[in-house]
Amino acid sequence: MVTPYYDAVIIGGGVTGEATQYILNRFTNLKRCALIEKNRWVGEVNSSPENNSQTSHDGSTETNYGLAHALKVRDAARILRRYVESKKDKKLFRKTNRMVLGVGQKEVAILEERFRNFSQHYPGLRLVGREELKHIEPKVIDGRDPSESVCALVSSEGYAINYQRLAEWFHMDVEYDENSEFRTYFTTSVENIIPHDGGDWFEVRTSRGVFSTYTLVAACGPYSLSFAQATGYGLEYGILPVAGSFYSTGHFLDGKVYRVQKENMPFAEIHGDPDILDPKDTRFGPTTKPLPLMERYNYGTFFDYIKTPIVSYRGLRSLIKILRENKLMGYVAKNFLYDAPIIGPLCFLPEAKKVIPTLRYGDLKRRRGKGGIRPQIVNLNTGKLEMGNKIIETPRGNGIFVTTPSPGASICMDNGKYIARKLVQARGAGYYFNEEMFLKEFEPDPIERLIFVG
Ligand SMILES: Cc1cc2nc3c(=O)[nH]c(=O)nc-3n(C[C@H](O)[C@H](O)[C@H](O)COP(=O)(O)OP(=O)(O)OC[C@H]3O[C@@H](n4cnc5c(N)ncnc54)[C@H](O)[C@@H]3O)c2cc1C
Repeated sequence: MVTPYYDAVIIGGGVTGEATQYILNRFTNLKRCALIEKNRWVGEVNSSPENNSQTSHDGSTETNYGLAHALKVRDAARILRRYVESKKDKKLFRKTNRMVLGVGQKEVAILEERFRNFSQHYPGLRLVGREELKHIEPKVIDGRDPSESVCALVSSEGYAINYQRLAEWFHMDVEYDENSEFRTYFTTSVENIIPHDGGDWFEVRTSRGVFSTYTLVAACGPYSLSFAQATGYGLEYGILPVAGSFYSTGHFLDGKVYRVQKENMPFAEIHGDPDILDPKDTRFGPTTKPLPLMERYNYGTFFDYIKTPIVSYRGLRSLIKILRENKLMGYVAKNFLYDAPIIGPLCFLPEAKKVIPTLRYGDLKRRRGKGGIRPQIVNLNTGKLEMGNKIIETPRGNGIFVTTPSPGASICMDNGKYIARKLVQARGAGYYFNEEMFLKEFEPDPIERLIFVG
């Protein structure tokens, strides 16, 4: 009988895999853990600051989140922000205002109602009118029709985060001592996973050889679902990869400005915010463009994508249903145009002007070669999109496969906490996750809990 070498193998060195390795190292007594990453360094795919919106979502100003979902994301965000704040690293995060802007009577009414329902759960949230907005973000008001009703829900807790830098911090915080063996293997690609003894342990075949492990975490974006399916799980799901591009404009905003979500629209509206890499450059985006790729600009991944179950009669039927039911045909076509030279900025301008009325064609510069892909989950049985994070588990909980569209980066530590709990349970007697220590370090103080949890 084979005795597996590793307690845990993690596939993927983005912010999810790195957060998980850090939590396993600091808060569990697992001794041997390998993280396997195909690239040369951490966070080069969706976690790169060039490829995502850099937002620490907490649900307060995201009008596409209902209260229950918002509160879950808020709690996850609070854990992450504790960690981030402890680093005192200007390259890691920037605290700004974050707001959702309401224009016209209908949107103003939506935000007033949201404020009534949400403000007790978010003490940093305020509803402000035109006059105050002029002081917070003058360019949002400059040139706007004075007869137009305007308001904004403003959160003082607007964190912009460089999620690649965050992955680096997790990586640096993993302790490598003689009593444990936590290793990272870069430029190593996982090719196949083979479960053994009825799924009791896994053989992980890579470009560098075979790793045997009791537990396995796939934190490799859309490939997590492919690995789950290769081991016989999650067969009812497919991936709709939704690419998001950005425009640069120069300095217009000091904080994040979101817009009210359109009814029935599954994807967030275009927003504007200062780039964490250069706060004097305001970015607008992300756009929403389905592409048959597992990774943006990595065209070889097309061949992996066409092997996924979405490329089937059932998958195509689901995609057509999603496009039709959500009335997305015109929306998607418009989003394709946004990436085109010359006419792209022309088509995009009216969207960006909803945030900054004085913006001109010449201000918009396409960020070519930037922007990632959100692996949105499609349920092939119901033909519907399932928004948010998807975790698929083996029956014993020793195999965990995490697919992370937005807000995957905001909830990476919460995912890591969940995974740590599962893996020590799966390892069995003698293994523990020191949740008390984790809570003490990262969760709100008791007095804050009284205020926030109610
Ligand atoms: C346009 C856009 C905007 C977004 N905005 C936000 C936002 O504002 N806030 C937010 O919270 N989230 C946002 N997201 C989502 C967020 O970027 C992701 O949820 C997050 O980065 C996912 O991290 P991850 O570690 O799971 O995946 P990734 O960062 O993609 O890392 C996966 C890693 O797995 C590796 N890998 C893949 N296959 C293999 C293999 N076979 N072997 C070895 N390694 C492998 C890859 O090289 C990669 O390093 C956005 C995403 C996009 C595309």
